[in-house]
Amino acid sequence: MAATTQPTPFAASMAAEIDQLKRDRVYKRLNYLESPQGPRVRMEGRGEILILSSNNYLGLCDEPSVVQAGIAGLQTLGAGTASVRFICGTFAIHRTLEAELARFVGTESSLSFVSAWNANEGFTATVVGEGDAVLSDALNHASIIDSMRLAKAITKCTTAVYRHGDMDDLVAKLEATRGARRRIIWTDGIFSMEGSIAKLPSILEIARRFGAIVVVDDSHATGVIGETGRGTPEHCGVFGEVDVITSTLGKALGGASGGFVAGPEAVCDILTQRSRPQLFSNALPPTVASSALAAVQFVAAHPERVRTLRDNTRYFREQISEAGFKPLAGETPIVPIIVGETATAIQMSDMLLDEGVFVTGFGYPVVPKGEARVRCQLSAAHTRADLDQAIAAFKTVGRKAGIIK
Ligand SMILES: *Cc1c(COP(=O)(O)O)cnc(C)c1O
Repeated sequence: MAATTQPTPFAASMAAEIDQLKRDRVYKRLNYLESPQGPRVRMEGRGEILILSSNNYLGLCDEPSVVQAGIAGLQTLGAGTASVRFICGTFAIHRTLEAELARFVGTESSLSFVSAWNANEGFTATVVGEGDAVLSDALNHASIIDSMRLAKAITKCTTAVYRHGDMDDLVAKLEATRGARRRIIWTDGIFSMEGSIAKLPSILEIARRFGAIVVVDDSHATGVIGETGRGTPEHCGVFGEVDVITSTLGKALGGASGGFVAGPEAVCDILTQRSRPQLFSNALPPTVASSALAAVQFVAAHPERVRTLRDNTRYFREQISEAGFKPLAGETPIVPIIVGETATAIQMSDMLLDEGVFVTGFGYPVVPKGEARVRCQLSAAHTRADLDQAIAAFKTVGRKAGIIK
């Protein structure tokens, strides 16, 4: 049957909202890729493009052993689980993957979810109860924020937000929640818009003083920082000391999808028993569990990949500063270049794409007014030639846009 030509009132109201987004110049246009995620991709209508905005930090999206493990998983275990875990949807590969992930991030146990988003929501909404307090860094990821909203709606727990990285404000918020039954400090390991790193040693010291629990979402850090890629705790010298770590399989660890909560075995078991994404939604497909397992094994066996990422990061940060740009200082492969106005960031991003380099511009309200930025992300898969080409494109576009001389 042909589609009706007359939009329904519902469709028409949605279309009006879309028109408004376009008028406000905040409409997101999608770019379609026709090759695996990698330092260079084939983009529909544009040909070969250099990518500087993916989370493919270690280049594992098309790593042969990772891809082969996915194919083998598909052939031996089939396409999917066809059930939630406690009914008949748990595979031995889930247990193997979870043991490997726990070993990698330095915890007793771990439990996989279909995304880090699900892991965070499952964790907070399950573990936090009435009389508890959750304290959150102001720049925490949306999934943490939503997990707190959900927990609050269910349990009437207390929530508080401390200023980004501000330990005095964290202490003040802990002082203000002294009567709480259990207190949780939630923080990103690496903050995605700034590329900054959580002050874990201070946070842990403060938490111990107040008897609070520390939960770190290390999605941008697992496989990325620390001498051997074991994340923010390794980077900060507190490996094995964080109460609970959550992270994603959708970034450095192969980039497919999936997330996990890692911590004491009893915490993971409580989530198996009670978290609603575990009870009412299918587990990670065995194909993805298989490729993710190969990815984490690859990182454990190849710390030199992490070293290459670190070298690429240092080189790019040096060269882009030398070119006259102002990246936010830091050591992570997230390199935000502040350009000022939102329109400038969007224009830069468009002009860079015309030069064959894909980076995304972010403006208000994602970041504060006047601090719009293009956010570059480095990968171990970038060659020096890739990085030099990116720097050259930035120079061309930066001069045209009047950002550098
Ligand atoms: C990317 C990211 C997530 C979401 O990961 P998914 O597995 O894609 O749901 C959650 N938290 C943080 C900090 C992230 O950077």
